[in-house]
Amino acid sequence: MRPLTFRPITKSRPGYADIRVSDLLTETGEWNWQQIHHILWPIDHDEIRRLPQRCLNDPDKLIWHFNTDGAFSVRSGYHLASSVCEGSSTGTFSGAVSFLRKLGNLKIQSKVKTFIWKAIHEICPSRFHLASRGIKLDTICPRCQSFPEHSFHVLWHCERAREVWFATSLWPLLSQFVGSCFMDLWSWVCSFGVRNDLALFAMVSWSLWLDRNQFVFENKFRKAEEVVSRACSLWEQYDSTLKDRIVIPSTQSPIWQKPILDFAKINVDAAVSETLPGIGVGWWLEMIVELCSYLGPIFCMDLSHLLERN
Ligand SMILES: [Zn+2]
Repeated sequence: MRPLTFRPITKSRPGYADIRVSDLLTETGEWNWQQIHHILWPIDHDEIRRLPQRCLNDPDKLIWHFNTDGAFSVRSGYHLASSVCEGSSTGTFSGAVSFLRKLGNLKIQSKVKTFIWKAIHEICPSRFHLASRGIKLDTICPRCQSFPEHSFHVLWHCERAREVWFATSLWPLLSQFVGSCFMDLWSWVCSFGVRNDLALFAMVSWSLWLDRNQFVFENKFRKAEEVVSRACSLWEQYDSTLKDRIVIPSTQSPIWQKPILDFAKINVDAAVSETLPGIGVGWWLEMIVELCSYLGPIFCMDLSHLLERN
C-alpha cells in the first residue's frame, strides 16, 4: 500500500481483482512467494518484503488510516475534514492533501490539472487499467514492448518517458527520484522543485500522455523535443508572463551560416548505440581566411572528417 494514497502500488492482474492478503499466505502464515510472484507485479515484491513480520498473523480487517489504533473516531474524522478544508494539519494524509492543493493552485489549464489528478489516482485509461476493468486487450506497452502499460509506466518508467524528461530542464531533479507511483513522483517535484518546476512537470506529463495517445491511435511519432515544445507552448498560452522565462526547445534543424572572416567553424555531432559497441563522432570544419585585404576573402577550406566506429 502506498503511504500517501493508501492504495495498492499497481492494479491487480486481470482475473485477480478480488485477491486478499490471506490468499498470499501459506497455511503456516508465511508469505507464499510462489503465489506472490504469480499474481503480483515485481514492483510489489520489495514492498511486501518491507512489511513487519507480525502483520502476517493478523486477520484481514478494515482499518481507519487516520487513527493510530486503526479505529474510526469522530475526533479523527473532524481532524481529517479540517485538513482537507484548510490544508493546515500535519501527518501523512495532510501531506498528500497539500501536494494535491499545489496542483489546484498551479497556473495551468484545467484539462492538465484534471489529467494530473487522474494520474495521481491511477485512473488514466492505460491498457493495464482498461484490462483491470474487464476489457480484453494486450496490456504490454506499445512503445517499449517490455512492460505492462499502466500510467506510471507511460509517464516515468518507459524509455520513451525518460527520453522526453531528459529533454527538459527538470532532468537533474527527476534523475534523483526514487519511488513507485505517480503520487511519489508528484510529491518529489512538489518537495524539491524550484520556481515553475511543478507547472512544467504537469505540462510535460500531459503532453507525454497525448504523445502516447497519438502513437497508439494515430500511429504518429514525434521527437522528444516536440513533446516538450508542445507542453511549453500550451503553458505559455495560459500564462503570457512566461514568454521571456521559458526556453522552448527548437524542433527545426538549424540553418547553416557561413563563418565570419578569420574564424573557424566546427559543427560536431555524436551518437551512442545501446546495442552496438563504440560511439560515432562526426565533425565538419569550415574556414575563410583573408590573405590580402584588397583581394578580399580568397581562401576557403572545407574539411570533413568522420570517425568510424571503433
Ligand atoms: Zn514502455
